[in-house]
Amino acid sequence: MPCPSPKTFDTLQNRLLDWCHKNKRILPWRDRPDAYSVWVSEIMLQQTRVETVIPYFENWMRLFPTVAALANASEREVLNAWEGLGYYSRARNLRQAAKIVAGDLEGKIPHDVETLRKLPGIGRYTAGAIASIAFGMDEPVLDGNVKRVYARLFDVTEAVNSPKGEKLLWDIARENLPKGKAGDFNQALMELGATICAPRSPRCPICPLREMCMARANGTQELRPVKKLKKETPHYIHAAGVIVGEGKVLLAQRPSKGLLGGMWEFPNGRVDGDPSRGVAKALRSGYSLKVRRKEALGIVHHAYTHFKVTVYVFRCDPLSIPENENLEWVLPGNLGDFPMGKVDRQIAGMVGR
Ligand code: SF4
Repeated sequence: MPCPSPKTFDTLQNRLLDWCHKNKRILPWRDRPDAYSVWVSEIMLQQTRVETVIPYFENWMRLFPTVAALANASEREVLNAWEGLGYYSRARNLRQAAKIVAGDLEGKIPHDVETLRKLPGIGRYTAGAIASIAFGMDEPVLDGNVKRVYARLFDVTEAVNSPKGEKLLWDIARENLPKGKAGDFNQALMELGATICAPRSPRCPICPLREMCMARANGTQELRPVKKLKKETPHYIHAAGVIVGEGKVLLAQRPSKGLLGGMWEFPNGRVDGDPSRGVAKALRSGYSLKVRRKEALGIVHHAYTHFKVTVYVFRCDPLSIPENENLEWVLPGNLGDFPMGKVDRQIAGMVGR
C-alpha cells in the first residue's frame, strides 16, 4: 500500500487542518466538545445526516444535559427523545452506558479507547472520536466519510466493506495521524468527506487535497471506494391491526432486543397472499389475539437497512385479548406518549380517521 512521503504527509495534515479551520460548519456539539457531547453526537450521527441530527441533539441536551441525567431517565423517556432517528438500540445502549459511567465509573467518561469500547454501543470508531476530540488522545477514526476520503486519496482498490479493506484503511488512518492534533484532524477528515469529497460527484476542483489525491490523478474518484455487492434487499408484506375497544386502541411493546427494541407498535405480522385475509391469523399467531377484521385504513411503505416492508392496515374488533404486560390499551390522544418507529407513527395518524 502506498504511504505518503514525509513531505506529502506534512502537507496533507497542514492543508486539511487549515482548510477545516476556515470552512468548518457551525454545529451545536462543536460549541461544547466535552466527552458527553461528543459521545451523544457521534452516536446520533451514525447512519444519519447532520441536518437531521441537529434538532435531536439540541432537544436531547435540554432533556438529558449530563451523563447523570441520562442515567436517571426512564427507557420510555429516552426512546421518546430518539423517536424518528431510527436504529433504536443506539438510544438504549446510550442509556445503559450512562448508567455504568454514573454508577461504576463515578460519573467519569473513560479517556482511553480500550475502556470506552467496553461500554454498550461504543465501537472502535466512536471510542476513537471521544478519545481524540474530547481528550486529545492520538487515536484515529474511520467512519463512512473518512473511509471514502482515504480510499480516494490513496486510490484503494480493496473493497472497503471487506475485512482486508477495513484493516488497510485503519492502518492508513493511524499512519496519517498528526501527533497532538488528532481531534482536529479527525474532524477535518469527516468534514471534508461530508462537504467536499461527497459519495457522488466529489468537488475535486475546490478540494484542498486535490494535488495529492491519487484517485483524482488516476481519474478513478467516482469508482472509489470499492464496495462488495450486497445481496438484494428482501421485501415483506405485513398486515397490522388497529384494534379498537371502548374508545381505546391496543398497542404491543416489542422485545427489548433486536429491531425497534422496546418501542411500541400496532400488532402486526408477515402475511403471504391477500393481507385482508391474513391479518387475523397474523395477530393470532404473533400475539395470541383474536380479532375480527373491519375496513382497510391505509398502506405504509418503509425501507429498513436490510429489508423493505409494505404494511396493510385494518381496523379490527377485539374478540379475545389475553392479559399480557406487553399489551396496553391506550386512548388515541395519548399515542404520542409511546415511542414508536416510523411505520407505527404513520399508523397512529390513521387512528380516528
Ligand atoms: S480530490 Fe476529489 S476525490 Fe480526491 S479527496 Fe478531494 S474531493 Fe475527494
